[in-house]
Amino acid sequence: TTATTTRDTQVFDLIAKEQHRQESGIELIASENFVSPAVMEAAGSVLTNKYAEGLPGKRYYGGCEVVDQVEQIAIDRAKELFGASWVNVQPHSGANANTAVFLACLHPGDTILGFDLSHGGHLTHGSSVNISGKYFRPTFYGVERETGVINYDVVEETAKRERPKLLICGASAYSRDWDYARLRAIADEIGALLLADVSHPAGLIAKGLLNDPLAHAHIVTTTTHKTLRGTRGGIIMMRNDFENPFGIKTVKGETRLMSSLLDSGVFPGTQGGPLEHIIAAKAVAFGEALSDDFYDYAVQVKANAQAMANAFLSRGYEIISGGTDNHLMLIDLRSKGLTGKLAENTLIKADITINKNMVPFDDKSPMVTSGIRVGTAAMTTRGLKESDMEQIVVYIDKVLMNHDDAATLATVKEEINEWMKAFPLYKS
Ligand code: PLP
Repeated sequence: TTATTTRDTQVFDLIAKEQHRQESGIELIASENFVSPAVMEAAGSVLTNKYAEGLPGKRYYGGCEVVDQVEQIAIDRAKELFGASWVNVQPHSGANANTAVFLACLHPGDTILGFDLSHGGHLTHGSSVNISGKYFRPTFYGVERETGVINYDVVEETAKRERPKLLICGASAYSRDWDYARLRAIADEIGALLLADVSHPAGLIAKGLLNDPLAHAHIVTTTTHKTLRGTRGGIIMMRNDFENPFGIKTVKGETRLMSSLLDSGVFPGTQGGPLEHIIAAKAVAFGEALSDDFYDYAVQVKANAQAMANAFLSRGYEIISGGTDNHLMLIDLRSKGLTGKLAENTLIKADITINKNMVPFDDKSPMVTSGIRVGTAAMTTRGLKESDMEQIVVYIDKVLMNHDDAATLATVKEEINEWMKAFPLYKS
């Protein structure tokens, strides 16, 4: 039998179950979103059958005439969306995009300076368990204890002391905007390159609702599946190409342009054949993100995050930095006498999905944590508005304040399942 004649019920029943889980609950994981049926269709298309090592027009395989056009559309739309002059749309994920940048810019043992993981940074910015921390010398800056905000004077001091070749900004759990101009000035002062990883707020940046990283950072990476609402994946961008200052030369001894180094950093540096079905899905998602509808979506994501933050604050919850500029917030539960682990495990019983998260200067382990991270990108896609955010916080508060009362958790779950029926996601 072939895959087309026999339905694999073992797997497809589970996919149906996961769809039901996504549709019946409240999804607040800040890094997740719901793609459109068109994005999903492209991701599940026959392009998955095609090998296309290389770049459009310069492939190592025959039969790439069609996928060349698809990939070029993805590149052109990403350029338009972010005001980039060069884009590589092939990274399979955000982690791959960052690794390709490291390979293009650095030699093993070089110093990098990133935002501390325990303050909201990402594993790929120098964590000891990631290649970025194993093959390079990682150093970190963080937020201030009193404000929960990055102090750029301290970043500058750290940069002057550590002399990194690559200064990295961007985060997984930082609710404030970034001062890219100041970071570039710091990078220039010490002769470093500035990498902005905008994986989380990319969708808001694309619509001009946050500072523009491409105006200042040498290189910008992003995932495509968070606020950008595309398929899972990564891209690398630059507004201005330049000669790599660290003297990585061609075999003929010429200095190479950064764009060429980055292309090589992706393939053959860290990946093999590009996923052209996923690149097609990226192209569709970028097309959607270019629309006026997506501007309205991005505005609503921010408005919902503000409403949610205010609702938490009014119930006595502590938000790191006191609020949010983007789609997410980090909540310190210590003042409520709860851990992140307990909150995550209890909220899921009421079909509210969040993730536990370390807070800056946390005294608990990463498996327990003192905080939770919540974001509004996914529920905004479902059509929820500000007043709904307040209702979600009412539910969260009720669950957390009654975490050992199974009857209350069951009632909240039933109410949420009923409520979510009004916001259908996908046709079954
Ligand atoms: N960079 C940042 C800032 C992220 O938040 C993430 C994902 O959480 C990544 C990189 C990695 O992306 P991926 O999970 O696609 O490898």
